[in-house]
Amino acid sequence: QDFVKKAPKIELHAHLNGCVRRQTLFEIAQRKQINVDFSIFDLRNIKGAFSIFQLIHQVLRDLSDIRRVSREVLEDFKDQNVAYLELRTTPKSCELGTYTKEQYLATVIDEIQKFQQLHGDKMQARLLVSIDRGRPLDDARSTLNHILKLKNNNLIAGIDFSGNPSKSTFKEYEQLLEQARKEGFKITIHVAELEGDEYLQESFDIVNFKPDRLGHFNFYNQELYNKVRQLDIPIEMCPTSNFYTVNMKSLSEHHFKEFFYQGHTINLNTDDTCVFDTDITQEHFKMIQAFNLSEDEFKQLLLRSSNMIFDQSYRPLLQQRINEYFSSSQK
Ligand code: IMP
Repeated sequence: QDFVKKAPKIELHAHLNGCVRRQTLFEIAQRKQINVDFSIFDLRNIKGAFSIFQLIHQVLRDLSDIRRVSREVLEDFKDQNVAYLELRTTPKSCELGTYTKEQYLATVIDEIQKFQQLHGDKMQARLLVSIDRGRPLDDARSTLNHILKLKNNNLIAGIDFSGNPSKSTFKEYEQLLEQARKEGFKITIHVAELEGDEYLQESFDIVNFKPDRLGHFNFYNQELYNKVRQLDIPIEMCPTSNFYTVNMKSLSEHHFKEFFYQGHTINLNTDDTCVFDTDITQEHFKMIQAFNLSEDEFKQLLLRSSNMIFDQSYRPLLQQRINEYFSSSQK
């Protein structure tokens, strides 16, 4: 596990508020005398996850909380030896009026910027701006308008489409995402998280849109699988999160096997470290164990991950770090 922890890893699918430290959440809730039922943390499935997000959003009421959480989350990934991180979050205003959407976004960017100055040699961090399908389309429009103003900010690496899949359809947002793409943003979309005919149909719509990357991709049939293979769209996999959503008996059932051994571009991520009580070392370690991956396969996995990062300018250095780590381990 120490070898996995020290390896230069790549995290591409982590939601900021889903990665808040539990301790920090308890502390802030206590200080603000917010009464919360923390037993919801026992509900580790997708429904439970969405109630936890509600709770987190309820507790983080001030801009100073957003600042603290951003800083801590960045530190946590650095301490896990992540060499390149794309952190995603939905810009939002506080319902109590304590901060605006613009202030929220500016605060997160500011923390990433500070982090880069202090620790950029150890971990490169970028932001993915999330569009939450659980919020109205107008909210997504205003988010896009905000980030169009920040188009030249090279910390913003792309856009993520996420949120509760049962709340709306991809088609409602397709035009907006197309517009974002035309503006030059790379796009990653949560797809096929849940089982059911309506989700399968929607997954075809999403894959036909040809996003730059797909998130999760839990449920598919042969036709959808062939399409993703043929279009060669990289997949961000989140083992523990997928384990609970799919209700697997063991991680060896994970769809990793159907992609990794075919040479498809995939990577492993945490999704929400707070909700799933995990970290990026665990995610790799568990999959190495479940599939009995060799050291060379682990290296191949990291190298493949480096091919799917949105800021490709960092790829050569990242690959160098990975190669150096594994060659020094063989001495
Ligand atoms: P935030 O965007 O930083 O507030 O992170 C929490 C948000 O990420 C949630 O409210 C969801 O919109 C999104 N999210 C986190 N995990 C998942 C997931 O597994 N599926 C879909 N959306 C998710």
